[in-house]
Amino acid sequence: MQFISTRGGMEPVGFADVLLTGLAPDGGLAVPDTVPALSSVDLEALRPLPYADLAARVIGLWATDIPEADLLSLTRAAYGQDRFPRTVVPVTGLDQVADGLILVGLSEGPTMAFKDLAMQFLGQAIPYVLRRQGRVLNILGATSGDTGSAAEHAFKGQNGVSVFMLSPAGRMSEVQRAQMYSLADANIHNIAVEGVFDDCQNLVKAVNADQDFKRRYAIGAVNSINFGRIAAQIVYYVWSWLRVTDELPVAERATYRVDVTVPSGNFGNIYAGHLAREMGLPLRRLILATNENNVLDEFFRTGVYAPRPSSATLATSSPSMDISKASNLERFLWALLGPGAFAQAWQRLEEDGRTDLSEHVSTMRERYGFISASSSHADRLTAIRLVHAMTGRLIDPHTADGVTVALQLMQPGFPTLVMETAKAAKFGETVAEALGSAPAPDAELRALLEAEQHVETIANDLAALRALIEKDAVLPAES
Ligand SMILES: *Cc1c(COP(=O)(O)O)cnc(C)c1O
Repeated sequence: MQFISTRGGMEPVGFADVLLTGLAPDGGLAVPDTVPALSSVDLEALRPLPYADLAARVIGLWATDIPEADLLSLTRAAYGQDRFPRTVVPVTGLDQVADGLILVGLSEGPTMAFKDLAMQFLGQAIPYVLRRQGRVLNILGATSGDTGSAAEHAFKGQNGVSVFMLSPAGRMSEVQRAQMYSLADANIHNIAVEGVFDDCQNLVKAVNADQDFKRRYAIGAVNSINFGRIAAQIVYYVWSWLRVTDELPVAERATYRVDVTVPSGNFGNIYAGHLAREMGLPLRRLILATNENNVLDEFFRTGVYAPRPSSATLATSSPSMDISKASNLERFLWALLGPGAFAQAWQRLEEDGRTDLSEHVSTMRERYGFISASSSHADRLTAIRLVHAMTGRLIDPHTADGVTVALQLMQPGFPTLVMETAKAAKFGETVAEALGSAPAPDAELRALLEAEQHVETIANDLAALRALIEKDAVLPAES
C-alpha cells in the first residue's frame, strides 16, 4: 500500500512515513493509491475479535509496512483498559426516540470525545516508528478543542516527541480547556492564539510551508489530515456494523445496509466512513451533519464548495464543528474527480474562492451515498431534551447535531447509526441550557476543573509561533 499526494507532487510512501508527515511537500494531502477490499468472508472472520484486535486487522490493510505482531501490540496498548475502562465502542439502540435509531459511543476514552480513538493509536504508533528510524518529532497542531486534548493525552510523557498545540483563545468549553491546560508534562506546549480555529490552522500551514524550518525542527502533525488517524477511525465503522448485525441470520448479514450520521467539521470522521464504504462495508448512506457553519451541507446539497473566511465562522454551541474550510474534503474531491479534474477544480477554488461541482451532485449521492443537512442551536436543545426524555440518557451538543439530522433524513426500514462524538459532561453548559439544570460533575471532573493550568497566549502571528517552537522543540541527540 502506497500513499501519494492529492496535488501529484510526492513520491509514493508507505504508511509508516505517512504517520510522520503532515501536509505533503507539495501542500497536498496523502491519499492511498488503492483501497483494500473487505469481502463478506473477511467481515465474518473479523466478527469475533475484540476491538483492539479488530483495529490491528483493519489498520493492517493500510499499514502493510508494519509487521502484524507489532501492530497488534500497538493497538492493544492504545485500546487497553487503562485508557478505555469500559467497552471501547458501545453500540446502543435508541428505538424509544425513533425506530431503528442507534447510538455509536465513540467517547469512552480519556478526553471524552471520539478523537481519542484515533489519537491513542497515533500515541503508540508514532513513537514506535520514530524508535525504528532513530528520529524525534515535534507535533504541531491546531485544535478547536477536542483534537488538542486527545493528542496531548496520547503523547504526554513520551520520549522523543513534543506537542505544540494551537487553540483559539476563549473559544473552547471549560472542560476542553481544563483537559488541555491542566497537563504539566514537559513535552506538552499549549498555545492560545488570538483568533478562531481557521487562524490556528493557517498558522500551522504557514510553518509547514517553510521546508527548511520544518526539517530543522522535525515538524509533523496529528490533526485530522494525518492518514494514520483516518485509518484508526475506519475501525469503528466496521465494529459498529458488526455489532448491529450480530443477531441476524448469517445469510442476511452481508446485504444488511445501514445509514450512518456523522456530526462533521473537518470531514475526517466521515471520510473514514467513506473509505469503509469503499472497502465494501455495507453502508448505504453517509449522512453528513453540520451546525450553523454549514459549508459542507451546502456543498453536498448544491455542489458549490465555497469555504468561508475565519471572520465568517460562527461561534456555536457545538464548537468542535465551527469550521468553514474542511481540510479532509480535498481527499474526497480528489477521489470524486480524479487527479486531472481535481487539479483544475482546485485551481478554480484557489483563484475564485469557490468551485462549482453541481454536475457531480448526483454522483456524490448515488455512487458515494452522501447526503447532508444542518442543525441550529434550537435544534440541538430539542434533541438533547428529546433523547433525555425518551431514554434518560444525556447527549452532547455535537451528537445532538447528528441526532437532529438523522431524525430528519432517516427512512423506515433502514437502521441509522449516529456517531456520538463527545460526552455530555464535556459540554455541560449547553446540556444545562436544554434541560434546565446542569448534570452534576463527578469527583474526577471537579478535580480536573480545579487543576492549575499551563498555557501561553500569542497574537495571530507566525513569528511569535516560530519563536516558541525554536525555544522548546525536542532535537535529535547530537552524535
Ligand atoms: C472533531 C469533532 C467533530 C468533527 O469531526 P471531523 O472529523 O472534524 O469532521 C465533531 N464532534 C466533536 C465532538 C469533535 O471533537
